[in-house]
Amino acid sequence: MDKSGDCYVGDRLTKIMDGITFNWDWSRNPIGTREVQDVSDLEKMCYETNLSNKEDQWICTLDDTGAFSVTRMRALIDSKYLRKDNHPTSWNKLIPSKVKIHIWRTCRDKLPTLDNLVKRGITVDTNKCILCKEEAEDVNHIFLGCKKTGVVREAINKWCNGAFDVDGSLSVGEVFYNLGSHKPKSKPDFKELLLVAYCWTISKGRNAEIFKGVPFNSYRAANDIQFYVYSWLCNRSKDHGKLDWNRWSCNPDMV
Ligand SMILES: [Zn+2]
Repeated sequence: MDKSGDCYVGDRLTKIMDGITFNWDWSRNPIGTREVQDVSDLEKMCYETNLSNKEDQWICTLDDTGAFSVTRMRALIDSKYLRKDNHPTSWNKLIPSKVKIHIWRTCRDKLPTLDNLVKRGITVDTNKCILCKEEAEDVNHIFLGCKKTGVVREAINKWCNGAFDVDGSLSVGEVFYNLGSHKPKSKPDFKELLLVAYCWTISKGRNAEIFKGVPFNSYRAANDIQFYVYSWLCNRSKDHGKLDWNRWSCNPDMV
């Protein structure tokens, strides 16, 4: 509405002793509630703004220096998006990296379970567990609450004489953290290996049912868990390279 289409707001201001005055040069006066309100808001904004003759510049408000720093920006982004977790991550060398990363995601509830998909706005046909098809699926149900995986835990626990006794009142993350597996040990933590193999096998079985239509079989899963632990011990540990499958599969206490 200004007669000069390319003038700045500053061109229409005059500084006086105790503030500013406006020298608008309208081609026509503001009309209607909207335009009058816009001019009023603009003047209010100018009153509250301390204009100087300096060049415009960017100021970073992350600290008092006003200077931008990648480090400070990274710290801000991390503080908003990264979950704080005081639990140390176990990095057992007997466990393959892809499995360790899977467990790391499991403990932090970062698997694409049905409840997590819904939280991210993804439409799902049902919130019922893929395996038992009875209860709502989340990470703790899959690994600790589901009756189908309960059969797997029972079978494994029987095989290793109670060494796989898992407290169902805890979360999956708490079960891992309670192992204390970050502490140095002279020999592999059998329960940790079992727990890792268990979570890995359950996830693979669940995915096979979803994406390949292969029904989850609790007893086959229990056999797979035995095999994973055996192969990690044989192939990734100097001390267990000659582990005899027939003896070990009957008596895993020998580890
Ligand atoms: Zn279930």
